[in-house]
Amino acid sequence: MAAESNVNRRTFIQVSTAAVAGGLVSQDVLAGPAAASERASAGRRPVVISSANGLAAVAEAMRQLNSGADPLDAVIEGVVKVEDDPNDTSVGLGGLPNEDGVVELDASCMHGPTHKAGGVAALRNIRNPSKVARLVMQRTDHVLIVGEGALRFAKAHGFMEENLLTDASREIWLRWKESLSKDDDWLEPGEWNGGGKGAANPAAIPFTYGTINCCAVDAKGDIAGVTTTSGLSYKIPGRVGDSPIIGAGLYVDNKVGAAGSTGRGEANLQNCSSFQIVDEMRRGNSPEEACRIVLERIVEHTESRLRKKNGRPDYDLKFYAVSKTGEYAAASLWSGAKFAVHDGAQAKLEDMHYLYKAE
Ligand code: ASP
Repeated sequence: MAAESNVNRRTFIQVSTAAVAGGLVSQDVLAGPAAASERASAGRRPVVISSANGLAAVAEAMRQLNSGADPLDAVIEGVVKVEDDPNDTSVGLGGLPNEDGVVELDASCMHGPTHKAGGVAALRNIRNPSKVARLVMQRTDHVLIVGEGALRFAKAHGFMEENLLTDASREIWLRWKESLSKDDDWLEPGEWNGGGKGAANPAAIPFTYGTINCCAVDAKGDIAGVTTTSGLSYKIPGRVGDSPIIGAGLYVDNKVGAAGSTGRGEANLQNCSSFQIVDEMRRGNSPEEACRIVLERIVEHTESRLRKKNGRPDYDLKFYAVSKTGEYAAASLWSGAKFAVHDGAQAKLEDMHYLYKAE
């Protein structure tokens, strides 16, 4: 098993070169924070990185940075565009619901200059959990508020409740529910009059992951990040993923960089992945190296139930990392994925690094 899961360096395919600002974070870290801020203040181009569904988010965040916004406000304004988009079924309005058909949202944010963080989990009826997370950070002495308390907190700050389940998301959820079993009372379309066999197979409508993570470093080298999601589709009500958990789905250290993740949240919760990525950058590894090291560690820790016959994980996980100097990378367990970045010149999608060629 170890041979399968222990991916060596050569198999971490390099599909893009992402050293935007030049220089390795190690030079800064080894020379200490003063050197880092000296380099950072030497007129760097800001960088915003996001999951692939965040092309509009990185464009908006960069627009905000260029007009002098704080990096946290910039990334939140970016992801709000995706939270508000009913066609993105992984975030905010139109997110896929829990097993009862209710949309429950998770989000966190972290502000490098103050090292403060905020989060909400299992929040219902509020389409912008990223903004509520920021208020938890700014207007309470807490870091995380969940469920009913998070909803009351949001309403206290003037957020309006609304039904976040769009017709499209409800239809997807209904197909999942109807396909769970032949032995329950839910018939699939066409089954009622003997026509159409239907799937009757939950694997036909698989659980899906989807989220937006967005991290930015501005021209002064100040860093912030946000992660917001409807989480695992058809989850058990109350299930909390990695996105609102600081260190799992997001982590920022203003002296080092930021990291965030999308994909199987349980793997990040068990491995504190985002914290680990930032910590690897602190040790002098590039964002790309840091992502690879942590992906390998997660593969090693994967329980046998979640491995394919050849020992590789049967799930996916994606990491996004940016250093204080603006070097960035994104990496996935499996090939074929892209991520969004604005490098100061343009917003674009780039190929992610990966451990395994898709099978
Ligand atoms: N990580 C999220 C969660 O587990 C889902 C995702 O990113 O796709 O809730």
